[in-house]
Amino acid sequence: MKVYKFGGASVKSAIAIKNIANILHTESSDLVIVISAIDKTTNVLEKLLLKYFNHQNFDDEFNFIYNFHIQIINNLFTDKEDFMKIFKKITDSLYKYLNTKSSDNFDKEYDAIVSYGEIMSTQIISEYLNSISIKNKWIDARKIIKTNNNYRAADIDFNITSQKLKEKIDFIKHKIFITQGFIGSDNDQITTTLGREGSDYTASVIANLLSAENLTLWKDVAGIYNADPKFKTSATKIEKISYREATELAYFGAKIIHQKTAKPLMDKNIPLTIRSFNNLVETGTTVSNFNEKIFPVVPIYIFNKNQTLITISSNDFIDEYIFEKVFSIFRKFKTRINLLQNSALNLSLCFDYNPNNFENLLIDLNQKFKVRYNSGLTLLTIRHYTEKTINNCTKDKKILLEQKNRLNAFFLIED
Ligand code: ASP
Ligand code: MG
Repeated sequence: MKVYKFGGASVKSAIAIKNIANILHTESSDLVIVISAIDKTTNVLEKLLLKYFNHQNFDDEFNFIYNFHIQIINNLFTDKEDFMKIFKKITDSLYKYLNTKSSDNFDKEYDAIVSYGEIMSTQIISEYLNSISIKNKWIDARKIIKTNNNYRAADIDFNITSQKLKEKIDFIKHKIFITQGFIGSDNDQITTTLGREGSDYTASVIANLLSAENLTLWKDVAGIYNADPKFKTSATKIEKISYREATELAYFGAKIIHQKTAKPLMDKNIPLTIRSFNNLVETGTTVSNFNEKIFPVVPIYIFNKNQTLITISSNDFIDEYIFEKVFSIFRKFKTRINLLQNSALNLSLCFDYNPNNFENLLIDLNQKFKVRYNSGLTLLTIRHYTEKTINNCTKDKKILLEQKNRLNAFFLIED
């Protein structure tokens, strides 16, 4: 069996969903298909949630999501009456939830509401495929993907999930199963999510637990490129890449796969294919246990925008004691440090700016240290750099911090 994952862009319209049907027409293997929310639905649900949580009027967001999905349904189904009953049930239950009082657990509320994106998308696609005779069984991921209750960043319990998967997925009964990426549930059956872009990870865990022969991530680009082809027209496609190297790229912020995706595949030696749903002739990128890190060997450019650089000054030496204090504050605010540099009396840290916690992070740091900061910076990582690539990217740029090791060069740039 194989696992296919379709992301938000691959199901963004009725035409895109019909294109998926074309892909499935040519597939003969048993399949588990993992699907994300349609297009940017998750972002709109996040806005809706914020308003709900802050007791503001959320009608605009709710109506937007409702109408957007209805328009897709109208363009997909010839006979939509029956499906509308199923769809109305989902939106009614969301509406009902939104009309009860919010708890004060933001992360838990987030998972309860934002998970609706995947429920809607998978119901639409599953029913549509059934209506055109691509027979499939819809599965509620909350019944199979079991997690702890670390809402918004839940960890999957592989043992229970494996049991549940085996109970629900029986290829003798159905050839195709369709489920949601990104969502699961805890021991109390409360909905959880795995973190933004987590559908890749769901697909990879399912591939691992069912010992799939392959996982394919269907994207709007035909694989991993050495720079985002949407921004740099001269980007080169990577044909082969090792699991570890793909994980490194994801960690440095390459948007192509979620950083936890490779590990479950590596553990079972399951190849990962990344290919384009728009271009079926082009071969994609294969991630597997190759000896070489990457082929062809080219410098890889990763741009992370919206970075903040904080410099902490202390009257004492920057030592383990200060590191510990600073790290515990970053841990408290669940903020990952992307780059770090120290001198005798200064410690500089670069991280993604998060409007939800930045002020509080500063307050905590200010209580113990003298703090300066710059915002709106870009962190450029060049993996497999050459001096020439560095010169091309950094000339005429104001660099606030730079670092190099054998494989990677990092530049924090003021735009
Ligand atoms: N829909 C979720 C998100 O946009 C999960 C995913 O797409 O992987 O983050
Ligand atoms: Mg998405």
